[in-house]
Amino acid sequence: MSIDYVDARRESESLRRWRQTQYARRCRSQAWLLDRVGHGQQLTIGQLGALPRPARCGWPLTGVGIRLYEGRAFLHGAQHCASPWACPLCTPVIRSRRAQDLRHAVHWWRQTKDAHGLVFVTLTVPHSKSERLGALIDLVAGSWSRMRGSHAWRRLADRTGIRHHVRSMEITWSPTSGWHAHLHVLLFTETMPDAKTLKKSIHVLWAEAVHALDPDRKPVSKRHGVIVESVTDEGLLLAEYMSKTPDKRDIALEMTRGDRKQGRRAGSMNPFELLDDGIDLNERTTRALWCEYVDSTYRRRTITWSRKLRTDSGLAGTEPTDRQIIDDAIHGTPVISLTAPAYRMLRRSPSIIAATLQLVEDGQVPLAETVIGQATGMDMDSRS
Ligand SMILES: [Zn+2]
Repeated sequence: MSIDYVDARRESESLRRWRQTQYARRCRSQAWLLDRVGHGQQLTIGQLGALPRPARCGWPLTGVGIRLYEGRAFLHGAQHCASPWACPLCTPVIRSRRAQDLRHAVHWWRQTKDAHGLVFVTLTVPHSKSERLGALIDLVAGSWSRMRGSHAWRRLADRTGIRHHVRSMEITWSPTSGWHAHLHVLLFTETMPDAKTLKKSIHVLWAEAVHALDPDRKPVSKRHGVIVESVTDEGLLLAEYMSKTPDKRDIALEMTRGDRKQGRRAGSMNPFELLDDGIDLNERTTRALWCEYVDSTYRRRTITWSRKLRTDSGLAGTEPTDRQIIDDAIHGTPVISLTAPAYRMLRRSPSIIAATLQLVEDGQVPLAETVIGQATGMDMDSRS
């Protein structure tokens, strides 16, 4: 067997496992979100309409089937919630597209001039265990807007040659300190500034902005409130880091390691992990946390670019919306069409979906149809 073949098998196997996890997470997320509204009863039309979008992701529209696009198989014909935060299936698609753009911008900045620098800044606020996520997000996002809109920031930008920036928000949760919302900001600078000096200057502005919005809060930590790192060779890696999925174990890592416990040792969890089996928390708590996460992130932006960065770096058009990214990803050639019962069964069976999509990608369409047929106990119509 050639190495390529072995690598391809391994990758396909990891992808299958990763998909299985994501589909299982979506099932659980939806069960919780539906249950919260219906309390285990059949939902009324009004209740259905009021469900948050991630609760409806994957519901069939018409002509449901399996399609192939660029070698990847996927279920087609279902609703997609296009949530950049809280959907185990849509979020990774959106984030990886945003990462592509960011990689392009970083590459462009490095290529244009040797002296150009990149600085990676992390901004946090002190918080307590019982704090609500929505309030934290408001504070962090609001403080950033305030700081960035200030004259002092503009003066700092002039002095240190900050030309562009990209800002992304990350949310984690831990049993000891509760919700944690913080910002990663990538600064595009004319030359590489001194990290220590820059940290001091940004700290003053950040602490002021946070204090202005919430005077009663503990002051921003001198040591951890602002972290400034000069990006040397890791520019591209960091670009990926900025837009990675909220799942700490990003897809690339999942491909190579697949150790599902890995991310938990540090104590802080990415929100998707709340949907996994085997967490050391009772279900009522995880349910409540997950629902709070879905509600608090609704319509929030994950990543924002400074005004001229996209056009200056040669990225065509305006920034695509989350919905456009998802719609773009839904092309492909129809391979198998599914009956409504077959589709419903697949939606409830993460392992069968994952195995079926993998079979289609491996070119084993008849076998995939047999698997679906056996699982649903009915014949498949493969002519779409
Ligand atoms: Zn979705």
